[in-house]
Amino acid sequence: MAVARFDHDLVVLGAGAAGLFAATEAAGLGRRVLLIEKMKKPGIKILASGGSRCNVTSTLPIRELGRWFGRQGERFLRYALHECGPDQVRELLADEGVATAEHPLEKVFPVSGRAGDVLRAFLHRLDRAGVELAVDEGILAIEALEGGGFRIRSTRRQIEAARVVVTVGGRSYPKAGTTGDGYAWLERLGHRIVSPRPALVPLVIEEAWLRSLTGIAVEDVVVEAVDDRGRPTFTRRRPLLFTHRGLSGPGPMDVSGRLLPGPDGRRRLRLDWLPEIDATELDARFKAAAARRQPIQQLLPASFPRRLAAAFLSAAGIPAERSSSELRREERQNLVTALKRMLLVVTADEGWDKAEVTAGGVDLDEIDPTTMESRRLPGLFVAGELLDLDGPIGGFNFQAAFATGTVAGRAAARSGD
Ligand SMILES: Cc1cc2nc3c(=O)[nH]c(=O)nc-3n(C[C@H](O)[C@H](O)[C@H](O)COP(=O)(O)OP(=O)(O)OC[C@H]3O[C@@H](n4cnc5c(N)ncnc54)[C@H](O)[C@@H]3O)c2cc1C
Repeated sequence: MAVARFDHDLVVLGAGAAGLFAATEAAGLGRRVLLIEKMKKPGIKILASGGSRCNVTSTLPIRELGRWFGRQGERFLRYALHECGPDQVRELLADEGVATAEHPLEKVFPVSGRAGDVLRAFLHRLDRAGVELAVDEGILAIEALEGGGFRIRSTRRQIEAARVVVTVGGRSYPKAGTTGDGYAWLERLGHRIVSPRPALVPLVIEEAWLRSLTGIAVEDVVVEAVDDRGRPTFTRRRPLLFTHRGLSGPGPMDVSGRLLPGPDGRRRLRLDWLPEIDATELDARFKAAAARRQPIQQLLPASFPRRLAAAFLSAAGIPAERSSSELRREERQNLVTALKRMLLVVTADEGWDKAEVTAGGVDLDEIDPTTMESRRLPGLFVAGELLDLDGPIGGFNFQAAFATGTVAGRAAARSGD
């Protein structure tokens, strides 16, 4: 690396999950590393994550974990997850005295339940590796220099560096510092940006009957994104929450970034409210209940709150006063359809302020997955959510940021030798 020409061997932009890992790895390999963060403190999203408990990674084996990033994402992440997978993340936290534990739905949290412990551990590693951290300094532009290297302009100064790792995150949750600044820089440096859009975001639903259910949570629902022929393109079985505008909770949020317009241009969700029972069996149960003249409300699972049960009957067009024995075949089938294959129209999502991640970003085809180096511009490395990578809720997005950050930091430190 041509050290003498530059103020720094390596500058890392953005001290979030990916930037902290990249800077620590590079400094650990003997480089002088400067990490620059626009906010007054590093790692704000780590502190805010998982309801301040930080769902730091997943219990899934790395192959399965990668699959949740889609086919291209899985291929792209394969090397990085081998370099820094959930086991390595848990080990390095344990080395810092932060024990982690497995929770339901394949999640891993610090045993203390405090995101602050996780961030402190990462900052301790950063400090020990000798990284110079500058906060409250926003990057404004990056320019590639003739003959190699970069000029970086910030709110405080101008820096020249041999290598730069860009880890400024996406556009979602702007109050944590992520305002999508990196897209324009990278586009100017020759990269294609897959149009960024909010993901892991609550959904606004057209069907007005949902509004009466605000606050109700349902633990086990299959939520599907469907294509224009009604075939599922993404399926998640997770809890769901009714909001005053539509649906939230892990299931709807996981599917939010994967919805496709149907033949009429509208996006739809398909829901199975009773994943344990198939439609034929459900219909048979309804018939048997009708024969026993059970009250119609009892046709629905006892676990459903009364308001929810009433809403299903109404969605199936069944008057609440109708006796189950009077239920017409068509009504019974409507109820089965409402419970097993309900289609809801998604009119909007709740936008960047509520989105937990950004889908889209720097085109993966233009980044080498074994180094995170740009295929367009040597010496430029990109990691974390700024890439066109997004996974579901459950520690996936931190894990991808840690893994790509690790690879970028190591490769940037070694490149030019
Ligand atoms: C509320 C919330 C909860 C979440 N919970 C979880 C969870 O429990 N588990 C999980 O896996 N994922 C969770 N996520 C997602 C996760 O936080 C992100 O996917 C992850 O932080 C991405 O890492 P990153 O390093 O790429 O970007 P970030 O962590 O977003 O870091 C980017 C950094 O760059 C800085 N920056 C931006 N622009 C500039 C600039 N111009 N100059 C200098 N610095 C700049 C930002 O201030 C920020 O510090 C959550 C997200 C949110 C919003």
